[in-house]
Amino acid sequence: MPLRPNRPLPLATPAGVEVLTRILTQGPIPRVQIARRTGLSQAAVTKAVAPLIEAGFVTDEPVAPTEGSGESQLGIGRPVSPLTVLADSVSVIGVKVTPTGLIGVTTDLTAGIRTVRHSPLRDSSTETVIPRIVELARELMDFLDDQANGAGPLIGIGVAVSGDVDAAHGVVRDSPFMGWREVPLAATLTEELGAPVVVTNDVRALTVAEHWFGVGVDADSFAVVTIGSGVGCGLYLNGEVVSGAYGVSGELGHLPLAPGELICTCGRRGCVETVASSDAILARTRETTGRPELDLAGAIELAHAGDEHAREAFDQAGEVIGSALAAMVNLVGPELVVIAGEGVADYDLYEQRMRRAFSAHAFGAAGDCRLMLRSHTFDDWARGAAATVIRSYVRGEPPLQR
Ligand SMILES: [Zn+2]
Repeated sequence: MPLRPNRPLPLATPAGVEVLTRILTQGPIPRVQIARRTGLSQAAVTKAVAPLIEAGFVTDEPVAPTEGSGESQLGIGRPVSPLTVLADSVSVIGVKVTPTGLIGVTTDLTAGIRTVRHSPLRDSSTETVIPRIVELARELMDFLDDQANGAGPLIGIGVAVSGDVDAAHGVVRDSPFMGWREVPLAATLTEELGAPVVVTNDVRALTVAEHWFGVGVDADSFAVVTIGSGVGCGLYLNGEVVSGAYGVSGELGHLPLAPGELICTCGRRGCVETVASSDAILARTRETTGRPELDLAGAIELAHAGDEHAREAFDQAGEVIGSALAAMVNLVGPELVVIAGEGVADYDLYEQRMRRAFSAHAFGAAGDCRLMLRSHTFDDWARGAAATVIRSYVRGEPPLQR
């Protein structure tokens, strides 16, 4: 039984959804700008905005006047300020699930992070992890309920998991990192927590956050490529984050571009991740240096110090990531690729090889695509889960339908 959000949005028409989306992602923005960008008349914009102002989601009053500007904004005849979302009108919880720990955040309506909680896990079984997600979410719900914190009512909880996730049904179909198959996560959590729960693929969640609250505000098409314990890719094309007809798309880490002898976490051979994931780089360095005790930080240090075996592992990773990027760019032609690493302490070790392989394989003008590095933390993944909830809320999509 789907639950409705605590504080429903007064949006009755597609124009209303479009107008709120513009204010949320591009605000503060004047009515006339919204009209220009959406093709709606100014009267239609004003009509769509009125119930949002009335219900306290949007304002055309000056918000938090900057120092020295207060006086001029008061008084009769001041011009109407641009439209701004009242960020604290609602709250959202986002959780990123990893095999070693949970990261939970609360955000406001603009995906601004308010609180962060980390919760380590001793194993990744559903018996261990699901009760811990419940515990973490309850802790964050208690924080939001405390009036002293000034947070708006909770509208929903987003949970981001790596792998093949059926977002429409809230089921984790296959997450090799977690060792999960066919886990009906949304239904279980909704029942335990009594709030709408959105379960989503983690890279897609990050892409939704970039679409609404990041590079997507200025780019017509982009890809988010994540490099770390896995290699993932989220795509934003033709005005939408790509989900794939079967819920799978952008699986860059499982393109068969690596030498075929190594078996991937997914069970197949020759996947990009078998040489480009941080685990693969570490395993290769341990093997070639004969130092099984090395950790990733140690392997990075060795490579920085010029150790030829460690360098070779990073070179191979860079080569394969660059080829995979070129394959993706040749296929879909995004304007921009955001490379999001977990910490990116080792990025310089493979960047050159990666760029060289990318240039060598990018076809024609597809190679004009910019590669932009963005350091990401686990908090950003959790924020992505929250952004997915915000998007469902504004669009009135399940489980946040109006
Ligand atoms: Zn694979």
